[in-house]
Amino acid sequence: MTALRTENISHAYLISGEQGSGKNMFADAFSAALLCTENGEEPCGRCKSCIQAQTGNHPDIIRVTHEKSVISVDDIREQLNSNVVVKPYSSEYKVFIVDEAELMNEAAQNALLKTLEEPPEYVVILLLSESEDVLLPTIRSRCVRLNTRPLPTADVVEYLTANYGVPDYRATTAAAFSGGNLGAAIAFITTDGASEERTKVWDFLRNIDDLSIPQIADAMRIEASEREEVLDLFSLWLRDVLVFKSTGKAKKLILQNEVHSIEKAAKVRSFEALDRAVRAVDEARRRLKSNVNADISLEMLALKLRDR
Ligand SMILES: [Zn+2]
Repeated sequence: MTALRTENISHAYLISGEQGSGKNMFADAFSAALLCTENGEEPCGRCKSCIQAQTGNHPDIIRVTHEKSVISVDDIREQLNSNVVVKPYSSEYKVFIVDEAELMNEAAQNALLKTLEEPPEYVVILLLSESEDVLLPTIRSRCVRLNTRPLPTADVVEYLTANYGVPDYRATTAAAFSGGNLGAAIAFITTDGASEERTKVWDFLRNIDDLSIPQIADAMRIEASEREEVLDLFSLWLRDVLVFKSTGKAKKLILQNEVHSIEKAAKVRSFEALDRAVRAVDEARRRLKSNVNADISLEMLALKLRDR
């Protein structure tokens, strides 16, 4: 919220970042803070304006919507250009949020440019985009650019415990799993279907040293859409096995539910074997991307995870 701290509000911001990196969360927090009547750096969360913002009912926060896979010139004209001239209803500012701004075609961007060239003083436009490059240079040069980099793990944990009421250890797992990508962390704790897949992975890892080869082959028949997540879980598990092997401390583990199996796995594996396993996960990741036989790649990887 540096822009707010310096009281240097620009008329246009270009917020870029990959999907799930928190662009919308940032835009929501930014507009709420801008319109909060308590005038703090962060939205107070209690005033009428904040409550309207939280419930998506703020008359001075306008989200530009679009129907097809393109934001057309009519979308921009009807929802933005013709609306900016109307003074804010109840606030000092009027915020327009254009999500997926990269979907604006050239005509739409040129229409937006008209407003960006001479915006009314109360107007703040937030363009959210996965990539800046597809926007016209004339648009980009009029925007303050903000990049939503992945958040530090501690912030993700704090956000998840505060907003989703999950226990600390689950929030930590989700944060570590998601590599700081808030959207992925939220998906981790809220997606039921994926969590069934995860249960299977934990069952597999708990018993990995006792399974027969056919059982392993069977366990590694994983739906294409779930494979990458399974590799992430393997990485997380190996990370913990390594941490336990080096420190002997269960407290340092991310996977607090799996302490026993991690301890067991750490005892029988050498550092060299674990190192090979970590590299095998990376290798499997590469192989899956290049369309080789996925079941066999995963089976080979699973066998590597058992190396001692
Ligand atoms: Zn407030």
